[in-house]
Amino acid sequence: MKDFGQWLRDAPPIPDPLEVDAATAHIASLEDAGVIDLMNDGSYMVRCCVCGRDDELPCDPGEIDVGYEHYCNGSPRCCP
Ligand SMILES: [Zn+2]
Repeated sequence: MKDFGQWLRDAPPIPDPLEVDAATAHIASLEDAGVIDLMNDGSYMVRCCVCGRDDELPCDPGEIDVGYEHYCNGSPRCCP
């Protein structure tokens, strides 16, 4: 049996609950604003602001804000 000190060193780091809450709240606000949609597989979809095509979010939801405009790059018009 491991002693407590060894157990503590082996345990994975626990994320800061305040940071997790802020990230969760941020993602919820993005979903509320309709910027992103959570898919069943846990990925996020974004809609191209030019043609309306749904695309997988190319970055972490924490990297975008509610003013984010997505361009799918599917045509010359769909570029920022
Ligand atoms: Zn587009």
